[in-house]
Amino acid sequence: MHYRYVVVGAGLAGLTVAERIASEKNEKVLVVEKRSHIGGNVYDSYNEDGILIHNYGPHIFHTNDKEVYEYLSKFTKWNDFWHRVLTQVDGNLIPMPITLETINQLYNLSLTPEEMKEFIDKLAVPMDEIKTSRDVALSKVGEEIYQKFFENYTKKQWGVDPAEIDTSVISRIPLRYNRDTRYFTDKYQGMPRHGYTKMCEAMIANPNIKILLNTDFEEIRNEITWDTLVYTGPADEYYGCKHGKLKYRSIDFVFETYDCESYQEAPVVNYPNDFDFTRITEFKKLTWQESKKTTILKEYPQAEGEPYYPFPTADCKAQYALYQAEMAQEKNVYFLGRLAEYRYYNMDAVVRSALNLYNEKLK
Ligand SMILES: Cc1cc2nc3c(=O)[nH]c(=O)nc-3n(C[C@H](O)[C@H](O)[C@H](O)COP(=O)(O)OP(=O)(O)OC[C@H]3O[C@@H](n4cnc5c(N)ncnc54)[C@H](O)[C@@H]3O)c2cc1C
Repeated sequence: MHYRYVVVGAGLAGLTVAERIASEKNEKVLVVEKRSHIGGNVYDSYNEDGILIHNYGPHIFHTNDKEVYEYLSKFTKWNDFWHRVLTQVDGNLIPMPITLETINQLYNLSLTPEEMKEFIDKLAVPMDEIKTSRDVALSKVGEEIYQKFFENYTKKQWGVDPAEIDTSVISRIPLRYNRDTRYFTDKYQGMPRHGYTKMCEAMIANPNIKILLNTDFEEIRNEITWDTLVYTGPADEYYGCKHGKLKYRSIDFVFETYDCESYQEAPVVNYPNDFDFTRITEFKKLTWQESKKTTILKEYPQAEGEPYYPFPTADCKAQYALYQAEMAQEKNVYFLGRLAEYRYYNMDAVVRSALNLYNEKLK
């Protein structure tokens, strides 16, 4: 069977491209998705207790890109949402990222913004050369804050000591010399009013889009032909892993439901030093859903499993470059999204990339 346009993967990258081809070009497009649902990692659903959960971890939309915000706003209304994160340190819950509030609560002080700057400057360890992720943190906030907030969290998240890896894991430490404890400062922030899945369903409502779920591209690769292929699956799998399997960090998502209205003080609480999980999300505090019950999510990072975070080290990037060289030879095949481009993408950035690909190559 021949198709003019085939898109592999029904995540935000694939759906954005498919929507543009179907709506603006008025062309038919086949979307092939190996999971049983659309949306990729932004998929959300109601669990057996009727609570809307994010099946692949908490997703908070935030962007400064007006065009991306307006594009997605065609498919959803938004609940205003300003994300807040607390971190458990020494038994206390302290705001993250590091703000004036964080420092004052941690050290039981009442510093002004200017005094906070002096205080942090004294803690920072002067360094001639920044070689590792540990160096990044020490040079900015010093040993104690590094240990309390970053060292163990990074070990849990990536399975490596920050002292053993280059600056790609901790590349910067955002410091705010004010009381703004919002997690993100972007102009547009929100949660899709009826959830991400509903938003994605609206994106593909056009009858020009045909979605084939539960189908790995590899199963039908030799059965179909196309004029243009947009591939958002893993780069290594497209080439039969001929240069080896690319390394990812995975997460075991463990959901628990409790018979109480509220479980914790904030939508997300980080646990850098205690327990094996990195953080707990309470979904009702993201979605504003009302219920006598509440569902939380504990995230246990692990080496094996679904690929979530590309390993941001020089070795892994060099291995990916071998696949990139192959991709550059392709005609009418475009590689897009977090798996094909082997990079961490926020939702707004992946939609931006998809719109750019459409405008520059497919339009
Ligand atoms: C735990 C976690 C939390 C996050 N939180 C946020 C957040 O708060 N804010 C934010 O902006 N971003 C967040 N993100 C990032 C966000 O999930 C991504 O930006 C977005 O999902 C990327 O979309 P994508 O289409 O590139 O990839 P995906 O969503 O992964 O979609 C790719 C799709 O391709 C399918 N596929 C793969 N291989 C094949 C194949 N061979 N055949 C057919 N189908 C295939 C997959 O099943 C998948 O559905 C988070 C990510 C994670 C992991």
